[in-house]
Amino acid sequence: MSEEQRGEGRGEGRGGERDEERRRGAALATLARRNERCRRCPRLVEWRERVARERRAAFAGERYWGRPLAGFGDRHARVLIVGLAPAAHGGNRTGRIFTGDRSGDFLFASLWRTGFANQPTSVRRDDGLRLRDAWIAAAVRCAPPANRPTPQERDSCLPWSVAEVELLDDVRVAVCLGSFAWDAALRLRAALSQAPAGAALPRPRPRFGHGALHEAGPFPLLGCFHPSQQNTFTGRLTEAMLDEVLLRARQIAGLA
Ligand code: SF4
Repeated sequence: MSEEQRGEGRGEGRGGERDEERRRGAALATLARRNERCRRCPRLVEWRERVARERRAAFAGERYWGRPLAGFGDRHARVLIVGLAPAAHGGNRTGRIFTGDRSGDFLFASLWRTGFANQPTSVRRDDGLRLRDAWIAAAVRCAPPANRPTPQERDSCLPWSVAEVELLDDVRVAVCLGSFAWDAALRLRAALSQAPAGAALPRPRPRFGHGALHEAGPFPLLGCFHPSQQNTFTGRLTEAMLDEVLLRARQIAGLA
């Protein structure tokens, strides 16, 4: 093969990569639009829409999102961050997970300090926030009453997470914010098509803990206390503790 032909081959290779990149990006966008129309869980649909209609006095002038929240971030993310569910007046209002609430303030400041975000705040969908090497998704994608989704709602929502993660390139570790997210991520990992044949939920179930690491399947899980106000106001989760987990995730994922 001549040098010219080899050059053409490389060009076709890069063209193919660009096509695949566009295809996956479009597939993620299509999936997000389908997800946003989901009404599979009657209790959550009723709640998310009621909150959006009634609104909190402080946000009375805003139009709430009031729909499911797809994940967001860097499609090439090596670090997947799994949260619990959208907050009624946070993500359910702004239309982006962890955006516009105190938990998000705590999380995004840490993501910025640890090199995953281009800015330390997250207040609106169009606030310019960009994630690098990280993707954030909720285990349950609709706001639940009292922040408590049921196990059945978790399982109903799992296929959305599976479809989304399968369109990401290269997840190397999942940071699970709280025990509910840990349980959901165990199920997610077992359900992925690249999971080893016959992969099932490990028994006994690996216990969640802050800093717990469970290595199996396509990628390990790393536990972290949820940045809820209950945890951050009481000092159960400090900035340093969250930074430490995210830096460890960077290390496990092979990021500089
Ligand atoms: S929680 Fe998930 S499955 Fe249930 S309605 Fe919302 S998006 Fe659909």
